[in-house]
Amino acid sequence: MKIHEYQAKELLKGYGIPIQDGVTIENLDQAEAAVDRVHKEFGADQYVVKAQIHAGGRGKGGGVKFSTTRESALENIQNILGMTLVTHQTGAEGRLVKKVMVAEALDIKQEFYAAITLDRSKGLDVFMVSTEGGMEIEEVAKTSPEKIVREAIIPGFGLRNFQARNLVLALGLEGAAAKQARGIFKKLYQLYRELDCSIVEINPLIITDQGDVVALDAKFNFDDNALYLHSDIAKMRDLDEEDPAEVEAEKFNLNYIKLDGSVGCMVNGAGLAMATMDIINQVGGSPANFLDVGGGANVETVKNGFRIILSDENVKAVLINIFGGIVRCDRIANGIIEAVKELDLNVPVVVRLEGTNAEMAKEILANSDVAIISADSFADAANKVVEAAKG
Ligand code: GDP
Ligand code: MN
Repeated sequence: MKIHEYQAKELLKGYGIPIQDGVTIENLDQAEAAVDRVHKEFGADQYVVKAQIHAGGRGKGGGVKFSTTRESALENIQNILGMTLVTHQTGAEGRLVKKVMVAEALDIKQEFYAAITLDRSKGLDVFMVSTEGGMEIEEVAKTSPEKIVREAIIPGFGLRNFQARNLVLALGLEGAAAKQARGIFKKLYQLYRELDCSIVEINPLIITDQGDVVALDAKFNFDDNALYLHSDIAKMRDLDEEDPAEVEAEKFNLNYIKLDGSVGCMVNGAGLAMATMDIINQVGGSPANFLDVGGGANVETVKNGFRIILSDENVKAVLINIFGGIVRCDRIANGIIEAVKELDLNVPVVVRLEGTNAEMAKEILANSDVAIISADSFADAANKVVEAAKG
């Protein structure tokens, strides 16, 4: 689960990490009060108006505006709130900006990059820093990977003093700033562990003209499987930032991920779902989604699965590929018939049922009056559905 910059900054603040502070609003009516509060509470005379969306690259996309006066801050709020912001991470359709942060403007002497995530190849958390802050770190990783310095963290020890020193040294920091940065890095790792983050990224971490080290931006991602331990963080979820079909699927315990092909897939078991996507590709088609309806598929699951698959207008045909292990194929067949009747299906549906009561299921489907293309084998099903999707 991702959260917004303003929420991540609240968490940083709670750990005693200095941030570029501000006030976040959702409504134009709140603009004047917000700017005045930033002036009063943080002593700011200049402001940065920042779009709050779950995507990076806002600056380049026009979603971060430096404002030298109260009036220009108000003007920038008016322009950014409600805009459709396109960045390299949003895709061409962009993202509607529903919240803006009015932040105190700081004088930047230097911009750094700092992040923690799991290095799967090592099986350890890795703390990364770079002097090339503020810009796209992917670009730095590609063109000058030596400019990213890493420290792998042994579980139980946390970020050790010598490691914090190495990181700070890599950034060329000395004196008071070095001491501040070391403290920040240790707290940042503590936050990452205690809150079960999968990524914390501060880009940029800055040194101000006054010599203070401050987090100017923050992107956090959390391990969904640990969210039940952190109800306050779970509350920070912003459904507006997520794919509506995926949110809907989650309500019914369906594992759904939207893709950009034309063949809708309803499959039970993640392994079979992956294999189904592979074979669709292999015979020249392209899957519209990953959908694992789980082990206990029933009439309701099939119906909900259908509804979610069909909410995607790119879907030109649907493949139902169910293996009856725990679940019985005859039940699935009845679910399919009910769903097709109820949902007024307008795309061809190819069905392959294998396993427990598969024969019975085939009979049920054959004797029903719904138009279903029956398939015998995995390959047969893939060929038929890809053909059907072509129209
Ligand atoms: P991102 O583009 O989504 O990563 O948004 P950031 O919050 O990182 O802001 C983008 C850039 O705006 C930063 O790298 C800074 O260069 C600039 N910026 C943001 N806040 C300030 C500020 O207070 N003062 C100055 N001088 N620049 C800022
Ligand atoms: Mn940034």
